[in-house]
Parts: sequence; structure tokens; C-alpha cells
Amino acid sequence: MNVRPHLEVIYGTMFADKSTSLVKRLLALQNLGIRTQAFKPEIDGRYGPNQITSHNGLSFPATDIKDTSDLLRYIGESTKVVGIDEVQFLNGSIIDLCDKFANEGRIVIVAGLDRDFRGEYFPFGKSGLTMADLIVKADIQTHRTARCLFETPNGFCGGVASRVQRFIDGEVAPYDSPTIAVGKEESYTPRCRQHFQFYEL
Ligand SMILES: [Zn+2]
Repeated sequence: MNVRPHLEVIYGTMFADKSTSLVKRLLALQNLGIRTQAFKPEIDGRYGPNQITSHNGLSFPATDIKDTSDLLRYIGESTKVVGIDEVQFLNGSIIDLCDKFANEGRIVIVAGLDRDFRGEYFPFGKSGLTMADLIVKADIQTHRTARCLFETPNGFCGGVASRVQRFIDGEVAPYDSPTIAVGKEESYTPRCRQHFQFYEL
């Protein structure tokens, strides 16, 4: 366990157990008696339960934040470990803030999607900044992949899935559909390189 100040970015596609990795680290650090606080963005006005949950049943309490100003408001002065899940939904100022927290002597561990449904770096809103700009700041870059769920005659493909295919009303989402869709019947499935439907531009 690295207990020196650092920034770790846990990134990858959906269904890649990024939250599990994050929660495990936060629990381990807290168990060492280090003051730990976690946050997650409120998405489109929807508040989830006040915790980060992982597929294997682990959870860690987390404060919902609208943006980085909320993060600055709620972070305790004595907090030594800052965890953020779904970091890609915050605004671009989170990049410098993560850097600042680590420079101040904190351990910062964030998890998020590296790519959007197009297979491009996930944008922080309209800031012009993307997850690539956050990943490059990290001391520890932890990449997680999922298993491809493309159905073949012999069952699921099972290949290394680095991307997620998005469907809207059963069809592959068009390139120009919004990065975050609200109110549509949409679904996502992890895909390997062979089975991800790339967009021709
Ligand atoms: Zn596949």
C-alpha cells in the first residue's frame, strides 16, 4: 500500500470493476487509520445512495457533489485520502484540483471512464479537456478492462474489452448523439476491438 502522497487514476471501460479497485484502496487506507473521504458526482440531478458501491458488494460512504466547488466545500482540512468515483462527469477543473490535492500531501485516487461510447477520450463537459489530460497527471495509471459480451454461436466472445458499445432504442448510437443521454432507452455493452463498431468519419 502506497501511503505517500500521490495521484492514482483508475481508468477503463464500463463493467471493468474500476469502483471495486477504488473502494478496496479506500477501505485499506482507512483501516490504517488515515482520514479518508470519498465523493461522487451527482448526474443530471439524480442523487444515488450516498456511497460508492462495487459489484462484489463492497461499499464506501461518499458525498454527492455537483462540481469541483462542492468538492472544495465538503473536503475536510485533515483529510489525507481523497477518493472520487465517476470522475469523468465532473468539469475540467478537477484535473488541476487533483494535482493540487496531491501536491498538498494527500493521496488522491480517482476512477472513471477513459473513453466515451464513440471510443474517444471522455470529455470533461465542454471544457476542451478530456480524461487523457487527467491520466497524464497521474503518478499511478491503473488500466482496467472488461470481457467482451458480443454473442457468438459458441457463447460470449470473452475477449479483452477496452471499449463500450452504446445502443439507443436497440440501435448502435449515432456518432453525434449526446455523450450523456437522458430519457432514452439506452444500454451499454463491453466490446473488444474486433466487435466494437467503429464510426466512419
Ligand atoms: Zn469480442
